Amino acid sequence: MDISFHGADRGVTGSCHLIRCAGKSLLIDCGMYQGGRELDEENSAAFGFDPATIDFVLLTHAHLDHCGRLPLLVKRGFRGEIITTAASRELARVVMLDAAGLQEEEARYRARKGRRRGEAVGPEPLYGTLDALNTLEYFGRAAQYAQTISIAAGIDATFLDAGHILGSASNVLDLTEDGKPCRVAFSGDLGNAGRKLLRDPMPPTGGDVVVMETTYGDRLHRSLADSVAELYQAINDALHRGGNVIIPTFALERAQELLCFLRTAIEQGQLPHSLQVFLDSPMAISATEIFKRYPDYYEAATAALFRDGHDP
Ligand SMILES: [Zn+2]
Repeated sequence: MDISFHGADRGVTGSCHLIRCAGKSLLIDCGMYQGGRELDEENSAAFGFDPATIDFVLLTHAHLDHCGRLPLLVKRGFRGEIITTAASRELARVVMLDAAGLQEEEARYRARKGRRRGEAVGPEPLYGTLDALNTLEYFGRAAQYAQTISIAAGIDATFLDAGHILGSASNVLDLTEDGKPCRVAFSGDLGNAGRKLLRDPMPPTGGDVVVMETTYGDRLHRSLADSVAELYQAINDALHRGGNVIIPTFALERAQELLCFLRTAIEQGQLPHSLQVFLDSPMAISATEIFKRYPDYYEAATAALFRDGHDP
């Protein structure tokens, strides 16, 4: 068994880890490096392995830094099977198509600028909408939490709820090579316990090797209740001054979580009933529709709310 790291090893984005075992090659994630222009080169560089030799990709969750280079992997020859939860598959579709659209737009903009400078050929986008659509063809089996999938002889995988975003999972691999068993656990991005929408993460047990995200590993967060109280206070202050509040937010998970907090506060009288809430992001709106289709992924009280047909 052999593990190598092809992203998220000297930084926190671009998650991509390769395992070779029992004659098969599988990737955990194939994410985009995010942060700025200077990462364009890293995103378009060779993967460090031949995509055509990869048999499986196990996707931990649908954030761009975990699924964003999948269309590039397909464009460069991957023909294997992508396995993830049903919710991650739907969210990854939205995320990959959005990323493809942005890159096409960016390439057109740079081509226009280049033509003005008299350059003949414009830059190619990393991948386009067609590549993102092609990638969807390679999504195979849907993983259910805590149910082991036989990936290939000597390779079993179990997806455990990571409580990070809808459909997110830690991957536990039970590998057997030359009669020797080895359990490798990839944490994926982990959520905090006690969140409003999602269930608490399910910790894996008995790993021989653990590969773990540590983005906020050196920080103690304030309690969620304190943060929510501060949010309500800030909104109320603005309203009393006759103002409006604009909240920039991640389109996946954070946007839906905020909607739920606002809803609760209006229902409980902590924010006025007259408060109007607008979600102004096509991607966040698509994601919210997907959230409504998966009530079973939620913490019980939220699941009941969704099931009764309430809008978050
Ligand atoms: Zn994430």
